[in-house]
Amino acid sequence: MEWFGTWLSAYWLRNYTDVLQGLLFAAFTILMVFRGQKKSRQIEKFILSFLTSYNSAQMISGLVYRWIASRHQLTGTLADFLVASLCLLVPLAVLIPLYRRVIGILGPGAVFFYTLFFCSNCMSMLLADTAFQRMCITLVLSVVLVAAFRKELRYVFFQRSMLRMDRRFKTSAATFMVIIGMEAELPRIVLDGGEDGVGNELAYAVSLAGCVLLLFFVVFMKFNFFAIMRYENFIRSHDEDPATGARSLSCLLEHGPDFLRRAAVKGQPMAVFYTTIGNFRDVNILHGYDAGSVLLRQTADLLEEAFPEGIIARASGAHFAGVVPQKDATERFAQVSEKVEALSLDEALHLEVGLCPTSAQKAVSPGKDPTERLASLVDLAASAISYPSAPGEVVRCCDENIRKQEEIRLHVLSSVDKAVKNRWLCVYYQPLVEVQGGRIAGFEALSRWIDPTYGPLTPDKFVAPLEGVRMIYKVDLNVLAAYGREVQKLQGRGLTPLPISFNISRADLESGIDLYGEIERLLDSASLDRRLVHVEISESALNGDSQVMPRAIERFHRMGLEVWMDDFGSGYSSLNVLKDYRFDVIKIDMEFMRKFDERSRVIVRSICEMASSLGTRTVAEGVETKEQYEFLQQVGCTYAQGYLFSKPQPPEAFYDALAAQEAKSSRESAPRIRFSPLVQNPKST
Ligand code: C2E
Ligand code: MG
Ligand code: MG
Repeated sequence: MEWFGTWLSAYWLRNYTDVLQGLLFAAFTILMVFRGQKKSRQIEKFILSFLTSYNSAQMISGLVYRWIASRHQLTGTLADFLVASLCLLVPLAVLIPLYRRVIGILGPGAVFFYTLFFCSNCMSMLLADTAFQRMCITLVLSVVLVAAFRKELRYVFFQRSMLRMDRRFKTSAATFMVIIGMEAELPRIVLDGGEDGVGNELAYAVSLAGCVLLLFFVVFMKFNFFAIMRYENFIRSHDEDPATGARSLSCLLEHGPDFLRRAAVKGQPMAVFYTTIGNFRDVNILHGYDAGSVLLRQTADLLEEAFPEGIIARASGAHFAGVVPQKDATERFAQVSEKVEALSLDEALHLEVGLCPTSAQKAVSPGKDPTERLASLVDLAASAISYPSAPGEVVRCCDENIRKQEEIRLHVLSSVDKAVKNRWLCVYYQPLVEVQGGRIAGFEALSRWIDPTYGPLTPDKFVAPLEGVRMIYKVDLNVLAAYGREVQKLQGRGLTPLPISFNISRADLESGIDLYGEIERLLDSASLDRRLVHVEISESALNGDSQVMPRAIERFHRMGLEVWMDDFGSGYSSLNVLKDYRFDVIKIDMEFMRKFDERSRVIVRSICEMASSLGTRTVAEGVETKEQYEFLQQVGCTYAQGYLFSKPQPPEAFYDALAAQEAKSSRESAPRIRFSPLVQNPKST
């Protein structure tokens, strides 16, 4: 223990330079990385930086060397040189990663920062004769080097640079540190044989070589950084999303195909993903735009961390897209989602991910160029998110079913005009039957898309997609145009046309076209009596801007059209709707017939009674059984619609039934005929 006491008492006298340089090291760390942060955090980081500084390695090395030297006769030998060098390099190898953790930076920034302090210290050992000189040279050189490299240090600390990923940069800085360190030890121990200072000519030559080497290092590194920073900034202005530091979408589409090709050569299965941060809007609203920006950057970092072998790009807003290895992707996304959730302040954040294996590429868009194919896969992955997934499931994988549905969706969006022009879009009619008299009172007009490639498409395949892009008005106006043609045909056969109700969507009113003008034009061109056309507006369309619907209802009324409320009871504000809007007819949602239990019956009865007191007629949708029909007779429902009478059918299917109804009606001179011929085979369509 005697050696320890001697070392400790003599330490300050000889090595106060190290203590001071360590403090300088910690101060620079705070200035560069923790500026503007809380004082307590700065003090904590200052102490930790000091303890993990290059100088701590120097102190440990001094202590260990003394301990070894007290047991073995080393002075002036080659063994002495090797032991002294090792005593320094081993603690350095441990302290650098520790320092990196303490200040929380990635890559070789820490190695480079160490190198500058290490060089200053070693250089002073080569140049100084006294401890005081050594201190002055060390401190001045440290400040000069850090000042000269301040921009570069900030760059490697904070920027996502190739320098942070390139091992060669780290290795070259570390090798340089080893060479300078050994050079500093060499004159002291081997050439001079003494404890400190440099005595003979060869030792001076080594010192000179050390100085030249340091100069060379400084110039070389400056030049290197300059070139790399300029190049990376140039690339970044094109390739990087400035808000998150992730790649830009254009970068993904430009480099993605090459990346996928290389992965395919290596036999590595890849997948394209699209992800969105659920509830992100709440962060902007509740905590401000800056908090939102921080969250986006953190999410980008988490994705990059989870998929270092992939390409992560910001698509827009809170959406990211990219290419990642297929293996374990689901689990890794689930982990990222958990971490994103942990970042929530009060707003249950989570990730929703659509994942599409690149093996689906050919199926998605055969023959397209690789960039377009990748873009189609990104679109497909984005669409997958909107398909229902199991509760708690983060990742929705694109299966064959989703792929097919998306294919149809894109086909629908791109060919709606063609569908109208070529009459792929046609109208089927479903009768509404008077509950008390049994005769057909009218029809609901429902669109069908008979596609030459995909066959008959039901509305769920085209209504929502066209609503999404506000093109559904093309379908709805087509219904009126088709009805106009039908009326002319009926009149040609000497039959009286019955009224129809046609569906309009909220998107029609928001599409920017003159919807009312177009409807008027169609009614006029077919000389249609306004009493023959009713407008159905679904209850769900009443959500949103409260002024749009009252204005629309009023406008339709002024045009002389009845306005019917569709799917009443499917939303949660049904009674308010009755209070706030004036509908001529209420169509009771078919869910009540589907679940025809006592509760549903009580509700339907109440709706019919309430509507009758308000002077409003009612339609029960989805009537499939005689029992339901009889119940509706008891409760005073006005009309019934459902498979019990007929599925929606092409108009020709009803011509004969209408003719029979008219004939019977005139024969009996009573306006009503009992309904029967339409109840053929409910499952016939
Ligand atoms: P909706 O307006 O409520 O139409 C009634 C739907 O119920 C129709 O489905 C009809 O075929 C179906 N249906 C009628 N009776 C029964 C029954 O007894 N049992 C069962 N299970 N179903 C029955 P469809 O034709 O598939 O239309 C679905 C929805 O698509 C319509 O609901 C409507 O909201 C929308 N839609 C249809 N055509 C058009 C259109 O031309 N324009 C717009 N904007 N939407 C349309
Ligand atoms: Mg309807
Ligand atoms: Mg309905």
